[in-house]
Amino acid sequence: PPAESISLAEFESFAVDRLRLLKVVENLGVSYVRGGDAYKAKLESELRKLKFPYKALVEDDYDARRKDHISHFILRLAYCQSEELRRWFLQQEMDLFRYRFNELTDVLRQKFLDHVNLSFEAISEDLKNELANELYTSTPGLSMAKVKEQMFYKVGLSDAVDLFRARRVFIKDGFAFVPLKDIDAIVLNNYRKNLSKALALTARSLPSIQSDERLQPLLNHLSHSYVGPDYSVQKNTGKISLEHIDALSVKSFPLCMRQLHRALRDNHHLRHGGRMQYGLFLKGIGLTLEQALEFWKKEFIRGKVDADKFDKGYAYSIRHNYGKEGKRTDYTPYSCMKIIMSNPPSQGDYHGCPFRHSDPELLKQKLQAYKVPPSGITQILELVKGMHYQLACQKYFELTHDVDDVGFSLNHPNQYFAESQRILSGGREVKKEPTHLGNSQQKTNSQESVNSNSAPISSNTTADSELEGLEAYFTED
Ligand code: SF4
Repeated sequence: PPAESISLAEFESFAVDRLRLLKVVENLGVSYVRGGDAYKAKLESELRKLKFPYKALVEDDYDARRKDHISHFILRLAYCQSEELRRWFLQQEMDLFRYRFNELTDVLRQKFLDHVNLSFEAISEDLKNELANELYTSTPGLSMAKVKEQMFYKVGLSDAVDLFRARRVFIKDGFAFVPLKDIDAIVLNNYRKNLSKALALTARSLPSIQSDERLQPLLNHLSHSYVGPDYSVQKNTGKISLEHIDALSVKSFPLCMRQLHRALRDNHHLRHGGRMQYGLFLKGIGLTLEQALEFWKKEFIRGKVDADKFDKGYAYSIRHNYGKEGKRTDYTPYSCMKIIMSNPPSQGDYHGCPFRHSDPELLKQKLQAYKVPPSGITQILELVKGMHYQLACQKYFELTHDVDDVGFSLNHPNQYFAESQRILSGGREVKKEPTHLGNSQQKTNSQESVNSNSAPISSNTTADSELEGLEAYFTED
C-alpha cells in the first residue's frame, strides 16, 4: 500500500476517478467482447481521459502511475465492506488488469512476472522447437503454426493445476509448459486470490479506519457513490405539467419510478421510502414545489387521507424536500447506487430498484406486461443474475426506446429520464408545456450547477447525513 501523505482533496478526486474508470470497465465488459478492438480502443481512451496510465509499464508518467496506485488502494478501503461490494470491485479490477496484462509486450510481460515473483520463465526458441510435437499434441486449440508463433512459459505445477487437471498442458520434469494464451488465466487467478485475500484483511482493519471522522464519511459515500451530475439543477423546473405525468411514466421513467408511479395511482398512497425516492425524482425532472404539493395531495385524498391530514402530516415533508423547511437543504434526487445499495424495500414498499430488489420471476412478469420482447427479457435477467443492475436497466432503456446502444452509462434515474426525453424529442430538451404554475421555484441553498466533471461527494455526504435527520419527519407511513 502507498505510504505517503496525501491531501483529502486528492484522496477524494483519485477515488472518484477510479470509480469512473471501473464503471466504464463494467460497461464495456457487457457491451463489447473483452479484448476486442472496440473494447481496447474505448478503454484506452477512457484511461487517457481520466489520466491513468494507458500503456502500463511503458510510459514514464509518474503522476499517472501514482494516481493509479493510490486510487486502487483507496477503493479497496471503500469496497471491502460487504461481500457484494467486494465482488463488484474484484470483477472490475480483474478486467482492468487483464486488459493491461494483455497489452504488454513479451519483454515487459516477462519483466512484470519477475517483478511480482511469479517465476514463469519463457522457454527459449530452441527448446520450443525441440518440444514442438509434444506441445502441439498436449495443448488443445493450438495448430503447429500457432505453437511456432506463441511463447510458452515454464510454470510450476501448483500454479497450473487447472490446466493439468483438464489435461490441457504439456508436463515435463515437474513443470507445465503453458502457452501465452493460457498464462493470463494463471496470472489473473493469482491476482484474484491475492486481491480477495487483501480485501478480507482490509475489512478487518476497517473499525480503526472508520473511527477517523475525516475518512469515514468519504469511504462510506464512495461505496454508494455516484459520479455524475446530481440533478439538483432546476433547469427544467416548471416545464412538466401534471397532466403529462401518466404518459411520461410509461415513456420516459425508469422501471423504479414507473413502479412507484403505478403504486401511487393504484393505492393513492406511498410509504416513506417511496415518497422520498419518487418525490425527489419528480423534483429533479422539473416539478415545482407547488406542483408537487398539488400532485401528492390530489392522489392522497383519493385514498384514506383527508385534505387536513395531508396538510398537517405530509405537506411539511414535501416542502422540506424542496428546502423550504428545517435546515433548508435542497435535497438531491437519489442516484442508482444509492437506491440499489441502501434502504432495501420491505413488504408494502415500492421503492428500491426492481432489477436489484424484485424477485426475478416477478421482474420477468413485469417486463412481459410492459411488452419487452422475450429475448430482451432473457438478456435482462442474465444481467441481473450477474448483478449488473444498472446495465440491466440500460438494456431495458434500449428495448423500450428501440435503440441499439444507449450511448451513455446509466447511473441515475433522472439521467434515464433526460436521455429518454432527448431521444423522444429528436435530440431536443424537454418541451416547455404551457402551465399556469410557471417557474416559481427559487433555490435557497448552494447546490447550484454541478457538472459531470465535478465530484459531488462532499456535498452529497452532507445531504445524506441531513437526510438521515429528516427521517424523523416521516414517521407517518
Ligand atoms: Fe432505477 Fe437505476 Fe434501478 Fe434503473 S438501475 S431501475 S434507474 S435505480
